[in-house]
Amino acid sequence: MATFGSLSDRLTATFRNLRTKGKLSPADVDGTVREIRRALLDADVALEVVKDFTGRVRERALSDEVSKALNPAQQVVQIVNEELIGILGGQQRRLEFAKKPPTVIMLAGLQGAGKTTLAGKLAKWLKKEGHTPMLIAADLQRPNAVTQLQVVGEQAGVPVWAPEPGNGVGNPVKVAKDGVKEAERSQHDTVIVDTAGRLGIDAELMKQASDIRKAVDPDEVLFVIDAMIGQDAVQTARAFQEGVEFTGVVLSKLDGDARGGAALSVASVTGRPIMFASTGEGLDDFEPFYPDRMASRILD
Ligand code: GDP
Repeated sequence: MATFGSLSDRLTATFRNLRTKGKLSPADVDGTVREIRRALLDADVALEVVKDFTGRVRERALSDEVSKALNPAQQVVQIVNEELIGILGGQQRRLEFAKKPPTVIMLAGLQGAGKTTLAGKLAKWLKKEGHTPMLIAADLQRPNAVTQLQVVGEQAGVPVWAPEPGNGVGNPVKVAKDGVKEAERSQHDTVIVDTAGRLGIDAELMKQASDIRKAVDPDEVLFVIDAMIGQDAVQTARAFQEGVEFTGVVLSKLDGDARGGAALSVASVTGRPIMFASTGEGLDDFEPFYPDRMASRILD
């Protein structure tokens, strides 16, 4: 995966230098931590996350557990690996399904983040997992959003609830609510609610998303964030956390050449796990996110 490529190269080069050393002096540890810090900052990881991360690595690398180890250099790599898994959310988090169907999954995020595409991917994946999903087109803001959802719905072989014309017309809260009722009536066990996004954080649309959240009482609210977003990741994630109280994160466009900072910052600052990764424009370019696998990929 292109994302993280340069971060991965930098970290592995740092550890290669370390491996030539038998014992690690405090100066060796400091030098290594400094390299890690630079590599993370250059990858656009938020400063607060970098500070915390390197602080913990330094403390652990200087501790007895390392100085007494047979191979201190490997021990430091292990610590970085564990800390990376930690900032990526620790354990893999699966979707929570409602005891009484339908399970309602709401999508939120900036325009262009990849929500509508994700709706199709998630629907297809859920279907493969034996569920009977339905899509709800509650993005009435963006021209063509409804049509686009109908297209991905058709590709995924999943019905789409879209009774309103779109283009700013109609009431998205009502569409979402009616759609959930329809899913109940027609016995779909999961519904995915696509909502409107703007290019920047927008109070009116955040209120709309919050109203939709109140109206449909979702089991999961997934915040979709483009991995290319860079330094704005933290501010955007915090605004959505406040606005819609998302329960999980989906990283999109991990196939691009983003530096990876968004991925490494968002879970850490919001305390919400990354649950899925989107890795292309096709409906199959999608997978559950495993923090340990991602950490290994970065340190490979
Ligand atoms: P929305 O405005 O949040 O609904 O975003 P869309 O789903 O319309 O996606 C915006 C653009 O990004 C579209 O051209 C998608 O094909 C593209 N896109 C979405 N997800 C991915 C991804 O994981 N990788 C790549 N390369 N492109 C993506």
